Amino acid sequence: MTRNYSALTLFKEGLNGQMGWQKAWRSPAIKPRYDIVIIGGGGHGLATGYYLAKHHNIRNVAIIEKGWLGGGNTGRNTTVIRSNYFFPESAALYEMSLGMYETLGRELNYNIMLSQRGLLSLAHSEAEMEMSARIVNAMQINGTDADLLDKAAVREILPILNFSEGARYPVFGGVWQGRAGTARHDAVAWGYARAADRLGVDIIQTCDVEEFIIEDGRCRGVRTSRGDVRTDRVGMAVAGHSSHMAQRAGFRLPITSYALQACVSEPVKPVLDNVVLSPGTGTYASQSDKGEMVIGGGLDRVPSYGQRGNLPVLEHVISGLLEMFPSFRQLRLMRQWAGIVDVTPDSSPIIGESPLSNLFIDCGWGTGGFKGIPAGGLLFAHLLATGKHHDISRPFDLSRFARGRLIDEAAGSGIAH
Ligand code: FAD
Repeated sequence: MTRNYSALTLFKEGLNGQMGWQKAWRSPAIKPRYDIVIIGGGGHGLATGYYLAKHHNIRNVAIIEKGWLGGGNTGRNTTVIRSNYFFPESAALYEMSLGMYETLGRELNYNIMLSQRGLLSLAHSEAEMEMSARIVNAMQINGTDADLLDKAAVREILPILNFSEGARYPVFGGVWQGRAGTARHDAVAWGYARAADRLGVDIIQTCDVEEFIIEDGRCRGVRTSRGDVRTDRVGMAVAGHSSHMAQRAGFRLPITSYALQACVSEPVKPVLDNVVLSPGTGTYASQSDKGEMVIGGGLDRVPSYGQRGNLPVLEHVISGLLEMFPSFRQLRLMRQWAGIVDVTPDSSPIIGESPLSNLFIDCGWGTGGFKGIPAGGLLFAHLLATGKHHDISRPFDLSRFARGRLIDEAAGSGIAH
């Protein structure tokens, strides 16, 4: 049984060597049967478990994770949340998610360290300014907050940017989304885990789902490293592993896997109080609460399952960073890492039933699924509980690739994820 702690307990534990804490969620033995099994204990799997219990009162649920919670991409991302998308389908999805993030800390009673510090997406030429105006128009029509900034307005927000005339990527202006920002990635996973556990969902860690139990052409359960589990429905949220798992279930997904890398600098005093992104240089950065510069870039376009950083990408990303912020050249890097992301042909996620009956998929979030965790979880839970799409998830069904109804955000918003 987990409990709430008071400020006094926190103080006492600080004095007595932190010996009295209880675990935030249970480590139950795996049962031979559940109503629903979710594969993957990242943000999406955990949120799905929570909403199944909370919204649909389905509590006989297992979330099976082969490693530790959030040890996949949820704990490896750069924590940016935003909803600056182009198409109405994406706007509805990511606006729903951003809105849920705004109240998530209170809902889960867990500090997710939400910081709506604003996101600035730079334009480095007249042509990029025109693109920016088009995106701002689309965002505003879709009901998303967005402003088009000229150079002077950008300088007011971020005076330490490189405004010199001789800059390789001169600043012309940019798109501003004030409600965008960051949230602590581990806290989102842990908050959902604790809340799901309290509603009775079993979280089974260090348990690998090795095969699907398929009978009469239907998925009837999963074969795990801790034995077989039978169930009515299986939900799969295994970013980076979706193609492998689909192969085990006997079908192929329109997904290519890439390593996405990020790095952090040593901590310094506060100098950057928003998220800044330069599509031109392919680099984005924000400053963490600890003071580190959290730096990311585009995909390493060589498809790979190598979950580690490499020098060519680092060099490219850092040269973009220094182009934007010449004063950062004295910073030292502390760490570089990577996660494997699954990218679809239209750079939008897949939420829907798979070709194998009773097996449902939530995948293909590519480089941008952290921001989609609350909505992804809620919509996937709806699908698993009812067998039917929520209106917002329907356009993201796998069938869109057969129907040709793509939601091509890489083309629409210039965001390759
Ligand atoms: P994951 O968190 O990867 O969870 C999937 C889980 O499934 C893993 O824990 C894995 O161990 C488990 N699993 C796999 N196979 C099995 C199996 N057979 N049995 C049991 N368990 C299994 N998104 C943003 O919105 N903003 C960002 O700023 C951002 N930055 C990023 C930066 C980097 C470097 C990376 C790598 C990603 C970034 N993303 C970002 C993307 C985001 O992190 C992912 O889209 C999101 O975390 C996906 O969540 P998930 O729960 O689907 O997957």
